[in-house]
Amino acid sequence: MDFEAIFEAKLAPLHEDGNYRVFAEIERKAGSFPKATRFIDGGTQDVTVWCSNDYLGMGQHPKIMKAMHEAIDRTGTGAGGTRNISGTNHDHVLLEKELADWHGKDSALIFTSGYVSNWAALGTLGSAIDGCVIFSDSLNHASMIEGIRHSRAGKEIWKHNDPEDLDRLLSKYGPEVPKLVAFESVYSMDGDIAPIAEICDVADKHGAMTYLDEVHAVGLYGPRGAGIAEREGIMHRIDVIEGTLGKAVGVMGGYITGSDKLCDFIRSFASGFIFTTAIPPALAAGAAASIRHLKTSEIERMRQKERVAKFRSMLDAKGIPHMDNPSHIVPVMVGDAAKCKYLSDLLMDQYGIYVQPINYPTVPKGTERLRFTPTPMHSDDDMGHLVNALSDLWSQCALSRAVA
Ligand SMILES: *Cc1c(COP(=O)(O)O)cnc(C)c1O
Repeated sequence: MDFEAIFEAKLAPLHEDGNYRVFAEIERKAGSFPKATRFIDGGTQDVTVWCSNDYLGMGQHPKIMKAMHEAIDRTGTGAGGTRNISGTNHDHVLLEKELADWHGKDSALIFTSGYVSNWAALGTLGSAIDGCVIFSDSLNHASMIEGIRHSRAGKEIWKHNDPEDLDRLLSKYGPEVPKLVAFESVYSMDGDIAPIAEICDVADKHGAMTYLDEVHAVGLYGPRGAGIAEREGIMHRIDVIEGTLGKAVGVMGGYITGSDKLCDFIRSFASGFIFTTAIPPALAAGAAASIRHLKTSEIERMRQKERVAKFRSMLDAKGIPHMDNPSHIVPVMVGDAAKCKYLSDLLMDQYGIYVQPINYPTVPKGTERLRFTPTPMHSDDDMGHLVNALSDLWSQCALSRAVA
């Protein structure tokens, strides 16, 4: 059997359709966020990263680096086992306490990543609750979709951010059917935000459990940075709040928070929690230090908001079309896959600006875009350089401008 030929045949259409993924190889420079060195053709280039999910630069924060160095010196590198078999380190327990407190819940459970937390939690809830039907927002992340599929629970997909459509679908099932409503707060491609209170109203009406992915919001919104549900004062209305330690928290890992019973249930039945090595204690110590900092420090959040607003107004001044939304995510719309890739190549090669093109299937065809995430550390000069570059390229590629 010629397996190489099989792989080749499957890869060819990706190249033909412009969907083949090319990774930029970079080395981030601690202390110089958002600057990095790009490795290309045997040489290097200085670049400014404009598409990082390290939204606040916490991945290079001295406090967090110190906490991780100290934890390695204290405990070593790995955890030494699964949570059940010698892997539960003191740092994991401290982090879970920190997370539960952050979201106002009894308990928390750490997973290897946000992806695994969604996959394992939804997979377990959907399969271990007999007769459960999961109601999933149409734009939910792949990790939720895979978890729901894996659970083999009944599934209904409601129109994105549409509580009325959710109500209509929930109404198809009697009160005896266990129901779970799964959605996100900030959606990462359009940067729009779910009407969480309305969704909770509908879920309550039907006695459904609520599961909220706050991956793109934790660290960034709310007085203690716990996310949109905290900002709206409705964390208590959500049964499961899920998040990542890999984006604004700046480290790696994922988690869920909820009642003692719920966390005990996932802990006891989720294969993706039980049969895998616990995260290194140093990661847990770093994440805990980051969260402790973000609970009390408003500086990063305020500066990020100011930077995002300034960047949007600079784009407006040049007529560069961007999607209006109430979040920190600034999608600059191109609307053509080839042009989107071409623009991002030119920005990198000629201007030292790194932004990954976002094409189908991540977003619908015709809405291809460059997704910018301004951070507290992007300077006026960084933004001026980027906006001038975009303006040059907009003229060069004859792209249409927004009318002010
Ligand atoms: C990135 C992402 C995840 C996965 O989190 P990781 O920690 O990166 O695995 C989950 N949900 C959403 C909405 C995401 O964008």
